[in-house]
Amino acid sequence: MKSNQKYCKSLTAYQRYKSHEVKIGSIGVGGDNPIRLQSMTTTDTMDTEATVAQSIRMIDAGCELVRITAPGKKEAENLKNIKNELLKKGYKTPLVADIHFTPTAAEIAARIVEKVRVNPGNYADKKKFQEIDYTEESYQSELDRIAKRFTPLVKICKDEGTAMRIGTNHGSLSDRILSRYGDTPLGMVESALEFLRICKSLDYHNVIISMKASNPQVMVQAYRLLINKMEAEGMSYPLHLGVTEAGEGEDGRIKSAVGIGTLLEDGIGDTVRVSLTEEPEFEIPVAKTLVDRYLKRLPHDEIQSIDTIPINPFEYTKRQTYEVFNIGGKNVPIVIADLHKKNKITPAGLFSQGYHYSVPLDKWNIADMACDYVFTGDNTIDFAIPGTLGVIYNHKTWLNNQGERCFPILEASSYLVGVELSADLNFIRTNLNEVNDELISKLKTDTRVVLVIETSNKHAMSEQRRLILELMNSDCHTPVIIGRSYMNLSEEEFQLQASTDIGALLLDGLGDGTFIQAGTCGSDQMKMHTAFGILQATRTRISKTEYISCPSCGRTLFDLQETTAKIRSKTSHLKGLKIGIMGCIVNGPGEMADADYGYVGTGVGKITLYKEKEVVQRNIESEAAVDALIDLIKDHGDWVDPDDNL
Ligand code: SF4
Repeated sequence: MKSNQKYCKSLTAYQRYKSHEVKIGSIGVGGDNPIRLQSMTTTDTMDTEATVAQSIRMIDAGCELVRITAPGKKEAENLKNIKNELLKKGYKTPLVADIHFTPTAAEIAARIVEKVRVNPGNYADKKKFQEIDYTEESYQSELDRIAKRFTPLVKICKDEGTAMRIGTNHGSLSDRILSRYGDTPLGMVESALEFLRICKSLDYHNVIISMKASNPQVMVQAYRLLINKMEAEGMSYPLHLGVTEAGEGEDGRIKSAVGIGTLLEDGIGDTVRVSLTEEPEFEIPVAKTLVDRYLKRLPHDEIQSIDTIPINPFEYTKRQTYEVFNIGGKNVPIVIADLHKKNKITPAGLFSQGYHYSVPLDKWNIADMACDYVFTGDNTIDFAIPGTLGVIYNHKTWLNNQGERCFPILEASSYLVGVELSADLNFIRTNLNEVNDELISKLKTDTRVVLVIETSNKHAMSEQRRLILELMNSDCHTPVIIGRSYMNLSEEEFQLQASTDIGALLLDGLGDGTFIQAGTCGSDQMKMHTAFGILQATRTRISKTEYISCPSCGRTLFDLQETTAKIRSKTSHLKGLKIGIMGCIVNGPGEMADADYGYVGTGVGKITLYKEKEVVQRNIESEAAVDALIDLIKDHGDWVDPDDNL
């Protein structure tokens, strides 16, 4: 890897990216320590009893660092009571104070708890959401002002042995950073570096960094760029990984795995927080499943290293492929469902794949999340299939079933021998070992084929990435379907693994579709929804409404879980719309840049509505706010009635 592309130790041999160790109380983060799991309380910090009880539930679930919000001085002071109560009950888990806007709260907390998190976007900075035209001089004087305000905290942390996280959030960058860099991964990195340089100048190194965004693509690029820039400045701070405002349930898990998993695959990350709009103790098993996978990653089959990396790891560019039928080129990635183990394929059997056959109307209703192809192996289909669906047969079976939209799948060895092929579309199964000069030169002159890449390597994503990079370096534009097989996993394990493995490739613009084969991992419908969820999380194919909802914390001004469920129940049919639901204003307006509509708590029982970054209605009573949000969506012409959307 060239130094201007470098963000991990190796793209082909798994190894952890080595940071220096930071001590948080008795716990080490970074260095040779295991990847630590953490979460954040959602209770009112002034409610000592509830915060202690919730912290204990989190710790019992495996949480190694408990973060608690401290919006003001009184909450920061109450951290002492919380800490003492936990100690009385025998819990010594380090506590982290979460600070936004209030340096004095940080300075109080730093003398009580083991770590303080500051947000460089709003520490000592009152956001006015203004674009300011800085000169070099005025920018430097802003940095001097920040250094003056931040130095006392650094000194307290140094004296007290308190650790710090400089936690950048895409949604709350300072006006200064936004004016100079925009809301870009580079802006996020610079935001942290400005504060890090102050720490370094004061010889304080007990610092961890994070680069969170609700968009996994932005988040992954920012962490990679941070490592690249830190290396250039001789820094090796440990990294706290997280996708912020990931949402809840299946979507939240998929989005988190796409972002966090992509980095873990390359050995990046020293501590993980999965942010779900659920009880915080539910986040820990998800984080553990993501992280524990790498305990068994070594040894893995060797993957030949690669010198020329034809992609920019800090910027998304889709690999250029030619179009074969409806795959590759400018088409969105396709989804292939695996039905080859079914005894018989019937119209009802396609229900789980998004095709609903109405007998009275003699008509197929096609859902937004309907697969594009079904692989049926040697099972033939004896009814008229929906007009948007393709069928993939084993080559031998296809020879006798060459109907409309029926295509063969065959091994690369058979393809090279030269067998009868479809004039329109052929799927060729292959893996890295088979990709040689002979195959590549044949592929380069054949615009009827699509590769389905497979792997049995434990370091599987890396091997598949290596294969696609080989095609790119050989100037081969054959579309690639990412094929993955899973067995005997729980639904959650399956979702997290598939999202990591496939999401990591799609985030780098690699892959023209997914083909997941997963025996005994859950229902057919869940598997298909997972495939579409991965495409949505990587923003490569949008098939549903996206909810950017924060996990809530002691700052939350309404019942976030209940409100999210209510908004979801009324808007889940609005495909492609992004709705931000934030407990408070901290990340509000910034995240609204990524959302079409925003619903943000601005006072007890008060909600402010946004259209993108603009406030459109302020301080509505919360009882009326969901209906007001729907009216707002209607006013802007983005509403469709649920039935019209089928
Ligand atoms: S956006 Fe949500 S999680 Fe973040 S500080 Fe506000 S209430 Fe807490």
